[in-house]
Amino acid sequence: MLQKFLKEVIVIVVGKQAEDIVDLLYSKKYVNEFLIAKKLDITINQTRNVLYKISDQGLVSSIRKKDKKKGWYTYFWKIEVLKSLEFLKNILIKRKDQIDKQINSRETKEFYFCKRCNIEFNQENALLNDFTCNECGDIFSLKDNTKVLKDFRRSSTRIENDLKSVEEEIEKERIKLEKEKQKEISKVKKEVAEARKIRAIASKKLRDAKKVAEEKLNPKKATKKKVVEKKTNKKIAKKKVSKKKPVHHGRTPKDFLKKSLQGAKKVTKKKLVKNKVVKKK
Ligand SMILES: [Zn+2]
Repeated sequence: MLQKFLKEVIVIVVGKQAEDIVDLLYSKKYVNEFLIAKKLDITINQTRNVLYKISDQGLVSSIRKKDKKKGWYTYFWKIEVLKSLEFLKNILIKRKDQIDKQINSRETKEFYFCKRCNIEFNQENALLNDFTCNECGDIFSLKDNTKVLKDFRRSSTRIENDLKSVEEEIEKERIKLEKEKQKEISKVKKEVAEARKIRAIASKKLRDAKKVAEEKLNPKKATKKKVVEKKTNKKIAKKKVSKKKPVHHGRTPKDFLKKSLQGAKKVTKKKLVKNKVVKKK
């Protein structure tokens, strides 16, 4: 059903000869225009003309890629399903509106015609012509609208049914797009959460390094409890960091702090023990 409607759109926009392009453009991925030309067995310029006509209505989208060897751009296309369906919906609404006006007119007004010339006149024009054909001089006959009305009503019903189907397809497409959007959102959310985790680990390491530096500067403040805490932190840091950078012990306290912040997460227990030893002395 969807393909049928998309073809109808292309027939309206370009013409019957181009309807097969739908089979190629109705795709998840963008399709190479040279492939389209090849499959339709038309030239690349003919293909582009068709695509530009559809593009003018905003019913296809494209991306371009530069050919590194030749230096020119190749375009890749796909049909915009939702926009195409909405385009068709509007056309069907207009068509139905016109037919309904005709039905109303046939139901409420009289029409006259010349049997010989087969020319039709509405009431006003028939009156202006004195109900006489100015081509052949025959007197007008009153038109029997029964058959015309039947045809119009049939068309109106057919269009109405099509409209319902198009609306159903629009709904389906909207749901599909919404799902894709949600999928994209949860993907981004996941990435953000991941980035946050990495940042949290990094800032934790930084804090640890600062603590170690502080302890080095003020060994008196380093309590036993803190040492225990550090061990646990180190364990976490160890898990996440694969590359272990060597620890450079600075000569001055300032130098040491700087180096600690740069990546020294692995101040060894030995160092801490040494501090304690120094403290005890
Ligand atoms: Zn006539």
